[in-house]
Amino acid sequence: MKREKKRACEVFHRASRFVVTSHQNIDGDGLGSALALASLLKKMGKEVRVVYDGRVPYFYLFLPGAEEVLSYEAFCSSFGSLDAFVVVDCSNPGRLGRVEELLQKASLVVNIDHHPDNSKFGHVNFVDPSSPASALLVYELAREMRIPLDANIAVPILTGIVTDTGGFQFAELNQTMFTIVGELVASGASLSTIMHHVFRYRRIEALKLLGRALEHLVFDPSYGCATTYLTQEDFAMCNAQEEDAEGIVDYGLYIPEAEVSIFFKEIAPEVYKVSLRSRQGFDVLSVAHHFGGGGHRKAAGFKMVGPLSLVYETVTGYVKALAQNMTCVGEKRC
Ligand code: AMP
Ligand code: MN
Ligand code: MN
Repeated sequence: MKREKKRACEVFHRASRFVVTSHQNIDGDGLGSALALASLLKKMGKEVRVVYDGRVPYFYLFLPGAEEVLSYEAFCSSFGSLDAFVVVDCSNPGRLGRVEELLQKASLVVNIDHHPDNSKFGHVNFVDPSSPASALLVYELAREMRIPLDANIAVPILTGIVTDTGGFQFAELNQTMFTIVGELVASGASLSTIMHHVFRYRRIEALKLLGRALEHLVFDPSYGCATTYLTQEDFAMCNAQEEDAEGIVDYGLYIPEAEVSIFFKEIAPEVYKVSLRSRQGFDVLSVAHHFGGGGHRKAAGFKMVGPLSLVYETVTGYVKALAQNMTCVGEKRC
């Protein structure tokens, strides 16, 4: 891994024209890592474009450089040759949408990520599953290359860390992390501004949508599982969009006895995006893998097609069986 970090730095020193991208349904870590890396490379005198196949959620538009993110169409019509394609916070190219086609044509791909199921699709793979956020890997790269941090680098890095640690709730704010956060703050990042945008900056349509999801919330104490859902009708009633459902899955774990939270989001008629979150003892990544998705042990997701009742029964049935099995082998829930 140290060798891969060094190889990534070599590419950053040698190449001149870069494209940086991240996964669809972009989050604060994907966007933060991409924007921080783009600023880092620009500081090194490189030509850089950030491309993303989707719309950047409005609550991330405060990030320096967010307004310069190119759509797939804008990128295709404006950018010619490139030396290196850098993909951040993305476990496999299938999660890039149409940007995957561009990746296939690239002669040099650098993959920077922290997902344990990363498929190592790059020519250089700086992948560290022990890192709480991909943005921390960008921080490490800046350190390795001795590029001084500034606000354009520090703000998106801290946003990535804040997002993926749930505001330091999912990963301990230990001394090392505290020191890094201190350095980012000293370089111009405001922790309270970032916390505000990531967690408490939502339009009224999003709050109404949250209300509907909370009304649908149920908890089954027999296997410690909280579930909720939002249908296309819910979105229409609230005049809400997909990005307005960001963070809803986290509410299930507010329940003290909950070990797992599952959120079913209908993104097209009878097409569900399923998000899972868990506490320490329950591995939701194995659930996501079973249904063709991915993620992390405590945060994972996948898509499933079918009517809500079928999708709901299939997923909860699987999770229930798994939870009861865990009880038998003496895991935390016993
Ligand atoms: P989400 O529930 O969308 O916030 O995603 C939680 C975690 O699971 C993130 O690390 C995602 O990158 C990952 N994830 C979500 N959906 C998929 C998928 N279809 N395939 C692979 N990983 C996914
Ligand atoms: Mn992400
Ligand atoms: Mn991440």
